[in-house]
Amino acid sequence: MEQKNLVKKIFTEVINPGNCFHCGLCVGLSKNLFKMVDTNKGPIPKLIRKPLKRDISSLKKIVHACPGRGVPYDHLSQNLTTLKKSKLLGNYNYLYIASANSNLIRENASSGGLVRSLLIELIRSKKVDYACILDESKKTILNFDLLVTRNINEILNASQSIYQTTPLLHKLKNLKKNKKYVFVGLPEHVASLRILKVKYPKEFSHIKFLISIYSGTNMYPGAIEFYLKGNGINNINDVKKIHWRYGEWPGMLRIKTKKNKILSLKKFYYNYLIPFFISKNCLITPDFTGELSDISIGDAWSPQLENKGHGYSVAITRSKIFDQILNKLNVRNDLYLKKIHLKNAVRMHAHMIEFKKVGSYLRIEKLKEKGPVPLYDLEPSNISWMRKKIELFIGLIISIASNKKAKNLFSLFNSNLMGFVFKIIRQIWKSISKPTKRKGLDNIRIIKIKNKRLKEFL
Ligand SMILES: Cc1cc2nc3c(=O)[nH]c(=O)nc-3n(C[C@H](O)[C@H](O)[C@H](O)COP(=O)(O)OP(=O)(O)OC[C@H]3O[C@@H](n4cnc5c(N)ncnc54)[C@H](O)[C@@H]3O)c2cc1C
Ligand code: SF4
Repeated sequence: MEQKNLVKKIFTEVINPGNCFHCGLCVGLSKNLFKMVDTNKGPIPKLIRKPLKRDISSLKKIVHACPGRGVPYDHLSQNLTTLKKSKLLGNYNYLYIASANSNLIRENASSGGLVRSLLIELIRSKKVDYACILDESKKTILNFDLLVTRNINEILNASQSIYQTTPLLHKLKNLKKNKKYVFVGLPEHVASLRILKVKYPKEFSHIKFLISIYSGTNMYPGAIEFYLKGNGINNINDVKKIHWRYGEWPGMLRIKTKKNKILSLKKFYYNYLIPFFISKNCLITPDFTGELSDISIGDAWSPQLENKGHGYSVAITRSKIFDQILNKLNVRNDLYLKKIHLKNAVRMHAHMIEFKKVGSYLRIEKLKEKGPVPLYDLEPSNISWMRKKIELFIGLIISIASNKKAKNLFSLFNSNLMGFVFKIIRQIWKSISKPTKRKGLDNIRIIKIKNKRLKEFL
């Protein structure tokens, strides 16, 4: 009976209302109970057999660590020993700009190649035995899987950002308890693993380090096919290779077809795909940086750095060991490294931080009217009337763009034209909404709240 109730909880609170974060934990912790099934709303777990008594223990862990039920960030952050507190970026030790000095690493990187520089150092110094990273399967285009490796070449090759909802935790039970692993994931993957490490420290001590990449928006599958259609290619099987961030920073979407035709679109142009394919999970989480990681890494957006064209990452350390590793790599001249102030780190991503800290709260409030929502233990207060109206407008655009008929129509337009038009609209929109959003972020008060999700951890 208990097993049935636990499964029911996952379905009624998360899967049925569309709150699944596609993390794959359901599959990763249970024994052939769930299977991830591809849908046009991302990969979703499906029950493939009746739950039995012996599933209770793993089902309890899934219910505890499912990011679709929300995460008590403030409470869990107390498990990290950090020097400074920030409710915008998560608690931290230091903030840095970093860039790999190795051309081999940096030229293929999403930003400064920091993630792979750290993974290589962790393996070489034997701090971990394996890195767990998302990689594209060699044979099938747009088919991604977890790669567990200690091979430096494989780590080097798994660069770039994959802007598609995809599971990462579906192979957790295959990891060996007597080995040490580092995971690279999105904020939701990292939050889920941190919950397991906090709740079941002995059982998950083999997962040694958690590296989070920043995640603003992610997309459902279909975005690349939509882009191809606008370029006269109707079959994904005609594609040989996809690079999401090709060439010098910030990089471009580059697609090579089997007939050696090259399609490419600047990073800021292919953002036009976002309103059509934005995934719901990135709209209902306040976590942009991966606040429960040991180190978080994003793009160091700033006009000065962007003009250099050389990739730079921004890093937030939350565990002392990563400050030590960064400094060691810097002394060895493997890494350019510079400390920055909180103000600078926030300014780099002010728009997206606001989108998460204020926007996600407003979106969740609206969804509450329809059914269960993820519960967090922090919320913004004093949100202006104007900001609420802006959110209504954003919601309207997304609901129109994600409609099937609108997608069919817009997929016929040339992507360079769409990208150009979108960039102009985005700039105009940003300049209109910036004063309200900036003022909101400057005045933002984030307060602690109590709810039943937090109580599960007390
Ligand atoms: C969906 C998504 C949204 C993002 N949004 C933002 C944003 O709004 N602002 C920002 O500053 N940065 C964002 N990032 C992070 C940014 O694109 C870079 O990943 C980050 O700067 C690290 O760059 P790097 O050069 O150090 O990484 P690299 O050295 O190039 O290594 C990249 C690592 O990321 C892993 N990876 C790639 N895609 C995924 C994925 N989908 N899930 C899990 N692991 C993955 C790879 O396996 C690899 O280990 C986003 C990334 C993704 C995937
Ligand atoms: S968010 Fe993860 S754990 Fe929760 S239902 Fe979805 S796949 Fe399962």
